[in-house]
Amino acid sequence: MYFKESAGVPDGIGVMSKIETIGIVGAGQMGGGIAHVSALGGYKVLIHDTSADRIEKGIATISGNMARQVGSGKLEEKARNEAMARISAAPAMADLAAADLVIEAATEDETVKRKIYAQLCPQLNPEAILATNTSSISITRLAAQTDRPERFIGIHFMNPVPVMKLVELVRGIATEDQTFEAAKTYVKHLDKTITVSEDFPAFIVNRILLPMINEAIYTLYEGVGTVDAIDTAMRLGANHPMGPLQLADFIGLDTCLSIMQVLHEGLSDSKYRPCPLLVKYVEAGWLGRKTGRGFYDYRGDHPVPTR
Ligand code: NAD
Repeated sequence: MYFKESAGVPDGIGVMSKIETIGIVGAGQMGGGIAHVSALGGYKVLIHDTSADRIEKGIATISGNMARQVGSGKLEEKARNEAMARISAAPAMADLAAADLVIEAATEDETVKRKIYAQLCPQLNPEAILATNTSSISITRLAAQTDRPERFIGIHFMNPVPVMKLVELVRGIATEDQTFEAAKTYVKHLDKTITVSEDFPAFIVNRILLPMINEAIYTLYEGVGTVDAIDTAMRLGANHPMGPLQLADFIGLDTCLSIMQVLHEGLSDSKYRPCPLLVKYVEAGWLGRKTGRGFYDYRGDHPVPTR
């Protein structure tokens, strides 16, 4: 049905897979990033969120991020214009009917994702693959909420998507080989490296990364060090490019808390207990960079530690 060469694919990337049009649900930092790399990879992109305003903001962010790549010489203006022309708003879920692959990148909340699948599945092409970018939730459980568990898969991009080379692929119990192969082809086409994880809470990267971030928050909570002391210690003492609290703000503290809750509940081990200070920041709506305040305050010229 779909195989063909794409005129829009940049040199050296090769033959377009049978997937031509990518639908994205959630125009936040991850959905925007996935749209960005998919459009540069020659795919048509349809982007959906809860309001036309959010979609427009998401598309404007992608445009700005590509402009920065042009400014730093990583992208040509022509490639940017061509890629932006491949991205369209999909204000109604029915607008995603044309997609061969839909990637759900909405808020890390199982109830939200379930509601999306219930609305989305009847609108999709029966052949379409449905993927989730969840950081932690069971792929098998999410798949069971859809009409296509065999064509459901976890495609877990890292943040920021245009920069990070890794994508974790996670099969649910029912995911068919064809779905897995199609997802592999798509990800390779984006020039990313794949690592395959079994379907366990938070997969590989976040199973290791989030307990470290949570421990950094406990270190702050117990007064062992200030925000600055903890981040400096891990940047210079462990050679991490970002301190763990800076990274938590970058990921989003709501997402960090959700992942810790999934680890805690899914593995029933007290070592994954979310730090009460993380809970408090989320309750305050201090979610990190995306809301202007988290472990740092981003509202001025420079980030200022909030503790
Ligand atoms: P975000 O808060 O930046 O964006 C989430 C978007 O989902 C928002 O624009 C919101 O309006 C939208 N949304 C919420 N409910 C919706 C609905 N019913 N229909 C359509 N859109 C809806 O969050 P994010 O950081 O982009 O995370 C999105 C997903 O990606 C989560 O599952 C998260 O775990 C995962 N993820 C995040 C990171 C990270 O570092 N932030 C990394 C990898 C994966």
